Amino acid sequence: MERTLILIKPDALARGLAGTVLSRFEQKGLKIAGMKMIQLDDALLKEHYSHLADKPFFPTIAEFMSRTPVIALCLEGLEAVEVCRKLCGVTNSRKADPGTIRGDLGMSMQANLVHASDSVETAQTEVARFFQPKELFSYEPALIAYLYASDER
Ligand code: ADP
Repeated sequence: MERTLILIKPDALARGLAGTVLSRFEQKGLKIAGMKMIQLDDALLKEHYSHLADKPFFPTIAEFMSRTPVIALCLEGLEAVEVCRKLCGVTNSRKADPGTIRGDLGMSMQANLVHASDSVETAQTEVARFFQPKELFSYEPALIAYLYASDER
């Protein structure tokens, strides 16, 4: 079982799409292990987007991502990192495939509604960045295992 970090971005909150975005993940069977609203500050933004810190558009990302609070989610499931990335679609919403969250609902490269960890290693770091252990929950493990295993009987 994997855990991954999702951020529901300011454009989703401003457009009233936070619930819709969350539903896409829930409908796929990802389990909510943690969820909270958080206002990103400069320190957190620099850490979270350190791979983009020297890009000319970094200040725009920082401004955009701190425009409203975001909703941080820790989602759990088999191959959760890869499944969530596929559900999101590629970064540029206008190039993302229909059927993906960004492809169906996103408007641009920046206003793409959602962040999802890009690897298992990154996911571990990012979940720990946003959640303390006591903010993460495990429940109904037997039912979840049954649902994942049901096509192998
Ligand atoms: P992803 O979110 O798909 O993993 P990146 O890690 O490359 O993509 O970028 C992080 C976020 O920064 C993107 O989701 C997007 O909101 C923003 N971003 C990336 N590239 C650009 C760009 N060229 N112009 C504006 N915003 C960008």
